[in-house]
Amino acid sequence: MISPRYHREIPQRYRLEAGKCKACGNVSFPPRLVCTDCGKNEFEVIRLKDEGKLLTYTIIRVASDKFFGTTPFAVGIVELNDGVKLTTQIADVNFNDLKIGQKVKLVFRKIQDEGNSGLNCYGYKALLV
Ligand SMILES: [Zn+2]
Repeated sequence: MISPRYHREIPQRYRLEAGKCKACGNVSFPPRLVCTDCGKNEFEVIRLKDEGKLLTYTIIRVASDKFFGTTPFAVGIVELNDGVKLTTQIADVNFNDLKIGQKVKLVFRKIQDEGNSGLNCYGYKALLV
């Protein structure tokens, strides 16, 4: 079952919204209540760049129940051009084309669903540029 947490995370999942600390400029993604660098708690909402590079990746061949039927798929750690790192699925890719350091772009895609009567969850995935 899709949790209420999914709904709380919609600003990050749909719009890549992060928190930029008003005191020191540190960017938190997902946003935090307290800055991990300076301990202050005032943030400005910013939208992250949707382009970056692939730092590392793996191929998932045996997945948890909620991703049953979607294997194999590639998952990578992406560093966006503004320095934020995130983990995301790499979509529409021939695994032989994956290389560390490749440029990627985040796109809006369906992440999972609960069948015909359930919710669809959406978020970002990376595409090779
Ligand atoms: Zn700070």
